[in-house]
Amino acid sequence: MIKEGDKVLLIDRRGKSYLLTVSDREFHTDLGILNLGELIGREYGTRLETHRGEVFRVIKPNIADYIAKMKRGPQTVHPKDAAQIVAYAGISPGDFIVEAGVGSGALTLFLANVVGPEGRIVSYELREDFANIARRNIEWAGFSDRVTIKLGDVYEGIEERGVDHIVLDLPQPERVLPHAVEALKPGGYFVAYTPCANQVQRFHEHLTEYREYFGKPKTVECLVREQEVSKNCFRPSTRMLAHTGYITFIRRL
Ligand code: SAH
Repeated sequence: MIKEGDKVLLIDRRGKSYLLTVSDREFHTDLGILNLGELIGREYGTRLETHRGEVFRVIKPNIADYIAKMKRGPQTVHPKDAAQIVAYAGISPGDFIVEAGVGSGALTLFLANVVGPEGRIVSYELREDFANIARRNIEWAGFSDRVTIKLGDVYEGIEERGVDHIVLDLPQPERVLPHAVEALKPGGYFVAYTPCANQVQRFHEHLTEYREYFGKPKTVECLVREQEVSKNCFRPSTRMLAHTGYITFIRRL
């Protein structure tokens, strides 16, 4: 049953959606005015009509909806890349992750959802303004119980020990390698997301000094090609996201 304060995803007939918090108030759309108070006491799956009779479907938002609708500061990690990070590193419920930088917290939300209520994420961020955006997003998505944001420079050190995985989205991941040696549990992954090929190259060059501590590195790029499916034509979409970043994985031995 939907209660006051619950989050709902409203979807109109064109597929346009809104992620809203339920309270006794009006919400204006280009298809007319919705009275959100009418939702209190109803079940997810219900329909809500605007004053013009336009129907909105009402469902419970999931993690993908929160990430799509969250407030953004710096460039976020795309869900296709977040999925590779989780899949290749084997990130699981209950894991303890150190992340940096938090940016807007898109990757943080994805990871917080995977580690679940028993997991923990400590996320380092240099900039207070980004940390504040991320904190708001984390609280809004309901993950304050498992995420801590630390204002600080992860190049200077990682205070945590017994860490399951380190996940980085920052310019010089090689500067975190000496700290990762101390912080990571054997078997834990060090994941570096970097947009540029020269960053990957530089990272691999530094890795040669750490052969004793880590397994063979693996770098991937993930391309997702959406398809247009209609009765007469089934083909790839004309436009595609060409490049986001490379993801490099090394495992602490
Ligand atoms: N992964 C995030 C985006 C991160 S953007 C998301 O999906 O939303 C990169 C962030 O790293 C920026 O916010 C930047 O301030 C932070 N950063 C850069 N160098 C850092 C360092 N040495 N320590 C901590 N944070 C750092």
